[in-house]
Amino acid sequence: MTPVTIIGAGLGGLLLARVLHTHGIPATIHEADPTPTTRTQGGLLDIHPWNGQPALAAAGLIEEFQRLVLPGRETYRVLDHHGTVLLDLPDRGTGERPEVSRAELRQTLLQSLPDHTVHWGHKAAAARTLPDGRHEVRFTDGTTITTSLLIGADGAWSRIRPLLSPATPHYVGYTSIEYFLHDADHRHPATAQAVGTGSMFALAPGQGLLAHRERAGTLHAYVQLKVPQDWMADSDADTADTADLADPAGPEAITARVAAAFDGWAPQLTALITDADTPPVVRRLHALPADHRWTRVPGVTLIGDAAHLAAPNGEGANTAMQDAADLGQAIAEHPDDVEAALAQYEHAMFERAAAHAADEDTYELMLGDAAPHSWIAMMTGAEG
Ligand SMILES: Cc1cc2nc3c(=O)[nH]c(=O)nc-3n(C[C@H](O)[C@H](O)[C@H](O)COP(=O)(O)OP(=O)(O)OC[C@H]3O[C@@H](n4cnc5c(N)ncnc54)[C@H](O)[C@@H]3O)c2cc1C
Repeated sequence: MTPVTIIGAGLGGLLLARVLHTHGIPATIHEADPTPTTRTQGGLLDIHPWNGQPALAAAGLIEEFQRLVLPGRETYRVLDHHGTVLLDLPDRGTGERPEVSRAELRQTLLQSLPDHTVHWGHKAAAARTLPDGRHEVRFTDGTTITTSLLIGADGAWSRIRPLLSPATPHYVGYTSIEYFLHDADHRHPATAQAVGTGSMFALAPGQGLLAHRERAGTLHAYVQLKVPQDWMADSDADTADTADLADPAGPEAITARVAAAFDGWAPQLTALITDADTPPVVRRLHALPADHRWTRVPGVTLIGDAAHLAAPNGEGANTAMQDAADLGQAIAEHPDDVEAALAQYEHAMFERAAAHAADEDTYELMLGDAAPHSWIAMMTGAEG
């Protein structure tokens, strides 16, 4: 069986390597980060029964996943900017929206792989197809590898995508700024109470304060603002390697500016910004065209954000793992015909992406002119 070369050790790349490993197919992952813990891995992910959980089952890791689920975190409340609770859904203990830490899930996937599967500190700079049909990946340290089966799992700014498609992500009109507050029940009780035991969405047209309760009383806040792309800095994120950029003026200037945008909001909510224990992490949100697809190119494909980056809608990590499970199983089902495997995977993945493209715009529901009522209607409709 052809060894598989994967670029990117996010949830998609790792789960693909794991599914291949369970079928005895060797895989190597090249990851840009120098170590597994170089970057914080974001907050809680709600792993869905219709895509993320079956993918973890295909990887033989459903019991490990269940051990990571944080109990009681499925409570969900929507507030207005005064802090008035408009919707308060309890955790019914049904496990429909189980929340796990992304870092813990990634660590579980890493531990499920043979040693040395991931080559850390290997950042792909570019890829090209050689005259014999194999693919060459050049890394930023000047080294190269060649492979006859290459999978781009390298996220939004994929260096493998140009082998298949000229598409590049565009700014969706919203910027997200993340903060953490530690030991919040003791140090920030009013804010901890406003967030509750699970997820809290305080929404108004064009802006929102979202927060999750993580382990040990830590609150993880995602500030959402409808702003121009250059609102925070002069940098042009469309041409950048990453959309996560620091403001040259420094973290205090960013926080002052973000807090000013929430002037008049309840203090227990704005404390998510002003009382944060960590510097802001600014993410300009980008998406690929909703109908992004490509014509089959032998020996190469994409999974996850590299294939269908969308503004956060609670599905991205789930669909990245679903892609990975489908592709891994397709490769295992067609050991002597890689092209049949890739065609089968892409057909199903493009159908799914087209179905998601027809979904309502999450950000319009959450932060459009009818917020917060549009979001409550969506949540209660989903409940009913
Ligand atoms: C603010 C925010 C909140 C979100 N919340 C949720 C949520 O609640 N639920 C959900 O399901 N999804 C959520 N998402 C979406 C989710 O994070 C992504 O869709 C998901 O991580 C995609 O997985 P992936 O494996 O395709 O890519 P990634 O997770 O981006 O992993 C890509 C990997 O490739 C590496 N890499 C990048 N470039 C290179 C290179 N050139 N060479 C080598 N390696 C490279 C990266 O370091 C990374 O390890 C959220 C996204 C954001 C921005």
